[in-house]
Amino acid sequence: MKRRDFLRLSGLAAGAATMMSWEGLAAWAGEVDAFVRGPAVEDHPLRQLSPHVWAIIAPDGFPTPENRGMMCNLVFVDTSEGLLVIDTGASVQIGEMAIRQLQRQFAKPVIAAFNTHYHGDHFLGNAAFAAAFPGMPIYAHPQTVQAIAGVQGDLWRRLMEQWTNQASLGTEVVVPTASVAHGDEFRYGNLLVRIHHYGTAHTPADICIEVVNDAVVCVGDVAMDRRIANMDDGSYLGTLNAYRQLERNARAKIWVPGHGQPGGGVLDWNRELFEGIYQSCERAVAEDLPLAEAKTRVLSDPRVASKASETKGFESNIGKYVSLAYLEAEAAAF
Ligand SMILES: [Zn+2]
Repeated sequence: MKRRDFLRLSGLAAGAATMMSWEGLAAWAGEVDAFVRGPAVEDHPLRQLSPHVWAIIAPDGFPTPENRGMMCNLVFVDTSEGLLVIDTGASVQIGEMAIRQLQRQFAKPVIAAFNTHYHGDHFLGNAAFAAAFPGMPIYAHPQTVQAIAGVQGDLWRRLMEQWTNQASLGTEVVVPTASVAHGDEFRYGNLLVRIHHYGTAHTPADICIEVVNDAVVCVGDVAMDRRIANMDDGSYLGTLNAYRQLERNARAKIWVPGHGQPGGGVLDWNRELFEGIYQSCERAVAEDLPLAEAKTRVLSDPRVASKASETKGFESNIGKYVSLAYLEAEAAAF
């Protein structure tokens, strides 16, 4: 249907709505829903990070109507067998934008996708890749698969529509098709890819993906660069533990976060911020101080204070994340 025909049809239907049966109206609404689709997302360039790893780095940390949900980094691995995509973006339009960039740069298909966790900015682009490369496996931790198939999938789809003022409309939830576990290895031609999972960190079901040949590790939202993390489903202690394990078990010259710039110092930056938040709360709990006092201490901790101005989302989120750290410290002390 062309847009002009659609507009004509909606005009007709609006006039006829009073005469239509509920069934007719519902069927019509369903058709409109399938037709109405948010606009394309503007092109964001591919950047090469290492011999085989490329990325589209999102300039923004949070979704807005202006950025149309472009808030999460998408990573691509160039193997002799085809391309891998790690995190697919926050909408079908973002996935399609990424595919446009890939087709300009590479003459090869995408052969597998990985979703690092079940937050929508990391999996809602699955629809675009599944449509363009039918049958391609989409890998995730089993609890991520379950969450996207359950409440989280549709919840995030609807939230993204609200945050982008409907720009992501038309995005369908495509659930990962296969589960991976800690230690799993995939060989694509001469490239080796290894999965890491260390229990609850950013969510209970994060995977980090090591591109062994290039010493690049995609950490999803387990670590961020100059952005505060959504810790509602996560754990500060679990995240700090994951950093220790990753440093022990993976060889990384470059850590690629889900948000912010890739580099060698990503874990160090985030560790300092989280230690500043968590350890201040831990001491406040040990001294029986209330939450408000813990917050004052967090804000004056030099590890936190030095990052406040450069951290996206700091002002609006720090209060909530101190509460979460305080609750976790209380539970740990119990
Ligand atoms: Zn994210």
